[in-house]
This record gives sequence, structure tokens and C-alpha cells, in this order.
Amino acid sequence: MRPEIEALLRPDLRGGIPYGAPQLDVPVALNTNENSYAVPPAVVAEITAAVEAIASGLNRYPDREFTQLRQELAAYLSRSGTAVAPEQVWAGNGSNEVLLHLVQAFGGPGRVALGFTPAYSMHPIITTTTGTTWADGMRGRRFDLHVASAVEQVRAHDPAIVFLCSPNNPTGTALGLEVIEAVHEAAPRALVVVDEAYAEFARPGTPSALTLLAGRPRLVVTRTLSKAFALAGARLGYLAADPAVLDALRLVRMPYHLGAQTQAVALAALRHADLMLATVDVIKAQRDRIVEGVREIGCDPVPSDANFVLFGGLADRAATWQGLLDRGVLVRDVGLDGYLRVTAGTPEETSAFLDALAEVMAVQRQGDQG
Ligand SMILES: *Cc1c(COP(=O)(O)O)cnc(C)c1O
Repeated sequence: MRPEIEALLRPDLRGGIPYGAPQLDVPVALNTNENSYAVPPAVVAEITAAVEAIASGLNRYPDREFTQLRQELAAYLSRSGTAVAPEQVWAGNGSNEVLLHLVQAFGGPGRVALGFTPAYSMHPIITTTTGTTWADGMRGRRFDLHVASAVEQVRAHDPAIVFLCSPNNPTGTALGLEVIEAVHEAAPRALVVVDEAYAEFARPGTPSALTLLAGRPRLVVTRTLSKAFALAGARLGYLAADPAVLDALRLVRMPYHLGAQTQAVALAALRHADLMLATVDVIKAQRDRIVEGVREIGCDPVPSDANFVLFGGLADRAATWQGLLDRGVLVRDVGLDGYLRVTAGTPEETSAFLDALAEVMAVQRQGDQG
């Protein structure tokens, strides 16, 4: 950065590193947990028609309260069996913006947000860019988080916000509801945010924190259309919480933050929720195939409830990452010693990844012997 610009920059941002998953043009991109399947033609037609229908009205600001979208998102969440009312639903340009609204409203200078690392790398970035202090909580050796440890850390930090991530990115594991309940009880002055970006991929019997919302006005569950819903490019994330939390978010959001075209696209996709989610079972099967496949290759997968797998046992993760890239497969280095993260996509992508990994590991083992 030019020194004269750096001198103007907020001191706490100097020397910072921006979020930067590489966007490389490769045959097999398995590094950002998108849904590998394209939007189905029937939904493309509906999206196109929906945008055309609102285009002449783009001279006006959009519905600031995205009323219809909130109704549809509430209906979608309610399909899980837990009734969610439109008054409980908030949305933004990706769940990242929803998280930003939460931290803007409930964090701020002098306040602490606690997360349990490794978790979603944007939680600390959003936290610190709002002048909120980040506290790095810890997980167990296999990235597990149990009640006693979580409660102890919450008490030690006295946070204004606690981030929980379930299923957790980058480890893939879902949290037991007892951990969420215990954290909520141990932090009576905190907003407890459960990031459920990957909820639709969870293995059977993994309950959502939505089931805990009733009677807990300090609990927030965030979701997104970016992952299972195959709509990352549209940028639509949302949350469910007590209506009073939404009133707080209205204090910090920019006016008309959700464009008319975004609302129209999301509504069109939600009208075809079953079609948009049709690939979830295929992807879950690929996830399970990856877990088995990397184990057979001699690596060490972490059990996953998401559309990705963190796998360890890598002597030199940077070399493995590069070896995979040389074979056209882009995975994610999440900064964990000995581990890489791979997204589950199509069966063909899984095969390409497993074949490439087997080759890379064989070459590396030969190198060790030679
Ligand atoms: C991908 C991801 C999100 C989604 O972000 P969007 O802004 O909705 O695209 C949120 N949380 C976690 C943990 C994620 O991995």
C-alpha cells in the first residue's frame, strides 16, 4: 500500500490481509464450498422472467423491508418442522452482511466477540472491522467443542457476542444442541449467533438451533442461499431471531440494502426450493465418498456434516495443495498445519480429486524414500 494512504488508514487496519480465497480458472474448483451444480433451466427461466418483471420499476427504491422475501424465507425455514414467522426473519447481501449487521448492532469498541477457532475466517474479520475485539476460543484436538470447555471459555471472556458455527467451517462437524444451550445460559449478557450456513447438508438426526429459538430472544440462527441452495452468485443470506433483534439491525443497515433484483432472484429460486435443493443428496454422497477415499489414500478425514471435508495427515500441506493444483484441482488451504479442505461437488469432481490426491501422495512418499 502507498505509504501516504497507509498513513491515513485506521491504525487497527494497517498491515491487514484481506479475505482472499484464490479465484483461479481451473477445471476442478473445490475451494469455496459452492454448489457445483448449475441453476436448473426451469429456475433460470423463472429468474429471468422475475427480473424482467421488476426492471421498469428500478427507478424506485426497493421494498426496504423485503416483505415478500421474508415471508418466503420464513416458509422455507418452517418446512424443517420449527415454525418461523416472517417477523423473525432478516436478510442481507449474503449471510456475511447479516453477520456484519449483527456485529454493528451488538458489538463495537470495548466489546468482545468470542469464536472457537478454527471456525469461519470471516467471523474475526467482520468483528475487528467494526472495532469489536475478537477473542480466539479453542477447540479440542480433533476440533471438538464440548459443554465444559465452551462454558469455561465463555465465562472467562464475558463476550457481547458468541459465534458458534454448526456444521463448522472448516472442520465440518455439527455441534450438539446441548453445547448451544449451555453457551447461551453461561453468557447471560451475550447475543449467541449460530452460523448454520451448511445446515441442509447435515447427517440425519442433526437438529438445527432453530428448535431452540422459542423462549431465547438472545439466540440468532444465520443461514444462506449460497451453499446447498446453489445461489452464491446472487448474494442472499438471512437469519431467524426474536423480532426485537431485527429492530436492532434496522438501526445499522443501510437504507434499501437489499436490491429489487436480489429480492426478485431469491424469490424466484425459493419458489423452486425443491428443485434448487435436488442436488443435496448427491453432494452428501460425494462428501461421504471423499471421507472414505482420502482414508484409503492414507490421509485422515474429519467426519463432516457439510459439503466439504477437512483432511489431515499431510506432511507438507503447501506441497500437497500445489500438487493438486498442478493436476487441475483447486482445494483450500485454511491455514491449519497438516490439513487441507476440499468441497464435495459432482461425482466426476470427486474422482478427479481422489485420483489427483492419490498421485500426489504417492509422489511425496516416493520422494521421502528416495
Ligand atoms: C460460506 C459461508 C457463509 C456464507 O456466506 P454468504 O455471505 O452467505 O455467501 C457463512 N458462514 C459460513 C460458515 C460459511 O462457510
